Amino acid sequence: MLDLIIVGGGPAGASAGVYAARKRLETVLVVHEWGGQSTVSDNIQNWIGSPKISGQQLAENLRKHVESYAGDSLSVVFPDTAVALKQENDKVTVTLASGKKYEARAVLITAGATRRKLQIPGAEEYEQKGLTYCATCDGPLFEGKDVAVIGGGNAAFETAAQLLAYCKTVTLVNRSETFRADEITVRAVLSHPNVRVIKNAAPTAVTGEKFVTGLKWKDVKTGAEETLSLEGIFVEIGLLPNTSWLKDSLVLNKIGQIVVDPLTQRAAISDDKGFPSRVWAAGDCTDGKYHQNNIAAGDAVKALEDIYLFIKSS
Ligand SMILES: Cc1cc2nc3c(=O)[nH]c(=O)nc-3n(C[C@H](O)[C@H](O)[C@H](O)COP(=O)(O)OP(=O)(O)OC[C@H]3O[C@@H](n4cnc5c(N)ncnc54)[C@H](O)[C@@H]3O)c2cc1C
Repeated sequence: MLDLIIVGGGPAGASAGVYAARKRLETVLVVHEWGGQSTVSDNIQNWIGSPKISGQQLAENLRKHVESYAGDSLSVVFPDTAVALKQENDKVTVTLASGKKYEARAVLITAGATRRKLQIPGAEEYEQKGLTYCATCDGPLFEGKDVAVIGGGNAAFETAAQLLAYCKTVTLVNRSETFRADEITVRAVLSHPNVRVIKNAAPTAVTGEKFVTGLKWKDVKTGAEETLSLEGIFVEIGLLPNTSWLKDSLVLNKIGQIVVDPLTQRAAISDDKGFPSRVWAAGDCTDGKYHQNNIAAGDAVKALEDIYLFIKSS
């Protein structure tokens, strides 16, 4: 039996992999894709130790760092995906999409999150026909065009900043009066002459012919309906934790995040089975209050320290 199974290859999973190897825990790290969510970012400026790094380079560095420890006590299973988890008194079993099964004394989940989809008429129909979830991937296709970014957090502002390099105008459509993004980013983006802002706006429909031609929205204060003419819509309205495969085995909050003890990152079992949980979780898949690369990495290290004590004392 293994000491530990780690699920995920983002900043949290990679950090845990390195620490587990350094502690000589017999570990399997299951990775669906290296790097995690910020892989699509052009320019990450707050990964400590790197004043500027692209998401692709960050992913590459994480992979290389983990692989420099692989082969001894650490095995990397890539590409594969964890699809089921079962806790028992003396072990946890994780099943992968490939059909492989691993048993371990403990499991650390760092499965992160994926983008929330826009649920209004036309959104699905025009996806990849003017409506997109990735500015880095699709931004250059919108050169010289009027586009909107839906959302008000860091991802929305980062998307707007990227699009300003190509687009004629970028309109930020925000559901409330205030933005959730960092003040410094908000100020930088809003100071650009080609940025427009519509606040208190709830999108109601995507319109189009062959491709997107507009966004209908409702003023949440007055109820008035308006249409914005544009050729591109970039959606940045939040993240959904990659935890649907855990809903029967762990306690999840109402948006599906794994509920953890913030002191240790230990997760609770979904119904009290009379034995302690052997599962920990870190990063964007948890109910931790803030979600960032550095936090994901740090929380995974915290979890690893606790898992090490648990394994050595049981
Ligand atoms: C566009 C964008 C830009 C961002 N920019 C920044 C930034 O500049 N600075 C910053 O600090 N943060 C930024 N963030 C936030 C940051 O990316 C996240 O907080 C961070 O990636 C969380 O790391 P994580 O390891 O918890 O999860 P993730 O990065 O989501 O990684 C999860 C990993 O687990 C894998 N996985 C998922 N499910 C399974 C499974 N069942 N089996 C196996 N593997 C699985 C995934 O493939 C992935 O490798 C940005 C986010 C986005 C979307």
